[in-house]
Amino acid sequence: MRIQAIEIKSHEGKGLSMPVSTIDQKVSSVDPYRRLSASQVIAYRNCPRYWYYGWERRLKTPLPPQIIRGNAAEACICRVMRDSPSLHLAEDEDAMSTPLNKDGAPEWDDPSNWPGPRIEPVEKPLRPSDMDSLRIWAHARAQVHFQRCWDEACDDWAANPNRKGTVEDADPDQCLSMVLRGIDLHLQEVEECLNSEDVDVDAWRSGKSRPAWPAPDGFPRDWSSPSHAAYDIGSDMHVVEAWEIARPWFVDPDAASFTQTSTHPGGWFQGEYDLVYRWDGATRIIDIKASVGRGDRSHGYLDQLRMYGWLWWATHERKETVTGLAIWYLGAGDPKDVVMPAVEEMESMDRDLFELYSKIRGSNPSIEECPAEPAPLRRFKDGGVPDGQSVESDTRARCNRCEYAGFCEGSNQEPNLIQMETIQRFGHTWDITPLQAIRTRFSAIGDVSRLTGPDLNEDETVDVRFTMVDGWDRATVRPHRMGGPKRVTRSIKEGSRVRVDNAMPSLWKGQLNLDLDSLSSISPAEEGDEASIVDIETRVSVVGRVWSIDAYPDGASVSRWAITLVDASGSASAVAFKQFIPTAAASISRGDVIGVLNGEVGEWAGRPQIKMGPGTRVVVIDDEA
Ligand code: SF4
Repeated sequence: MRIQAIEIKSHEGKGLSMPVSTIDQKVSSVDPYRRLSASQVIAYRNCPRYWYYGWERRLKTPLPPQIIRGNAAEACICRVMRDSPSLHLAEDEDAMSTPLNKDGAPEWDDPSNWPGPRIEPVEKPLRPSDMDSLRIWAHARAQVHFQRCWDEACDDWAANPNRKGTVEDADPDQCLSMVLRGIDLHLQEVEECLNSEDVDVDAWRSGKSRPAWPAPDGFPRDWSSPSHAAYDIGSDMHVVEAWEIARPWFVDPDAASFTQTSTHPGGWFQGEYDLVYRWDGATRIIDIKASVGRGDRSHGYLDQLRMYGWLWWATHERKETVTGLAIWYLGAGDPKDVVMPAVEEMESMDRDLFELYSKIRGSNPSIEECPAEPAPLRRFKDGGVPDGQSVESDTRARCNRCEYAGFCEGSNQEPNLIQMETIQRFGHTWDITPLQAIRTRFSAIGDVSRLTGPDLNEDETVDVRFTMVDGWDRATVRPHRMGGPKRVTRSIKEGSRVRVDNAMPSLWKGQLNLDLDSLSSISPAEEGDEASIVDIETRVSVVGRVWSIDAYPDGASVSRWAITLVDASGSASAVAFKQFIPTAAASISRGDVIGVLNGEVGEWAGRPQIKMGPGTRVVVIDDEA
């Protein structure tokens, strides 16, 4: 069978290969920040309580320097794949830079700034002529790109306040050998393509087979001129042509994070493929892992690939299935093939995954709904090969290496957490509130004065503002900046007595504000109802262990210091902006026990948050170092 490359002019058509697929967020009821992902599914199946701490409580685990290896290796492999032996000599500087739109995604629809058309093709005698010389060229390109990729990955890791370890623990030589292994695996595809009888190379030479989602190659989407790599019509495929034809789709190395994802048509699941090969008319998805593939993670990776197979089917009208799934363990040998789920299995994955989404992302499960029940730890040998003994005999082996074991009831370890009722500082006794007991929402009753609105917005929230008057006390009631209330009594008018529930208080220049969001309401006050403005408590003092440092000012884009604290009761975040960042922040690290005294209560994304402002004191109680 000769594979006639399809002429594709629009990515809106049906039955097309779409390694990136988005949905119209305006017609979706799913919060894009609460979609399910393969990593969440794997975490939940490994232990529901582990998922709860990581995603519901958002207790980030430390970022080890090994992350540098993975990021640098993938970026370098992609940069080499984007290059072309008919546009770059082996030792040329990197001449590719993908133009991006305002969201950081490739500017596919504007053909003007793409680098490919401006590069003078390499003269034919100077191009690789066989697989051996192509391999030498590709390895040389890896050497050209590697240092930049390594430095960028080191900088990204070093800029993450949640990192753990030192950059010396990451080995660039090991990473480079993984890159070369990845390139060799790609060259196996190129060679298969070169030797294939089934590719209609003349159709490709004519320039009419460019896919709607092209592989990053420095050229715009609409580019129908014959390729710079094309040889004469009727001649055998040249090795340089095979490099071009076999190039898989991959995430553009210049694109911003999360701009190249695929979203389930229902909007509730999202994933991002590493490589999608399609030169042979079929679709094969590859995931790159900069590891040897040993141990329990290899089990989760099988699930991840199967979910990617299902996602491809779900995003292609359930008509197109991939023909291959594989993992490239760059520290091991051959690709690890993963069995593609059958259509019946994918139909049940659709149901099961949606059920899980509804449970853990469509709503907020309680800790009791996420039991501390770890799955057995699986055993795999190098290359993701199952061990003869498939699981560890200790059924709680997963807990021994779990970051949450220090406070999780399932670990059977003695909890090592902070529980204080008061502390003495600055000649004063401070009452300490357990983190889980921080109240972020209040009710208040009063008379309506200086009313603006109510006006119904397009998103069905209500724009309403007024001053609530209760004797001598006053509060400004207003919509929250992230979205206002939906439940507002129609009888509200100047002078009426109303009750505000679930309002978030804040103080600004001595003035109490009550912010209302979709969880808040305004209703007529009933006879005998009581909820005084004066009882609203906006200040709080807490003591906890620093679980993670989530943001640290960098003098450029980040101007806040944000941390997550844990104590025996739960967790909360604490944040300080600009001049309110305490001088102690520079010396506070993960594991320290600190007190935040006289902070302001708040809420951020459903979690209690303590804001540091004028009058807040931060004290280090136990320095872990
Ligand atoms: S310590 Fe064990 S039970 Fe608790 S979250 Fe970790 S793996 Fe799950």
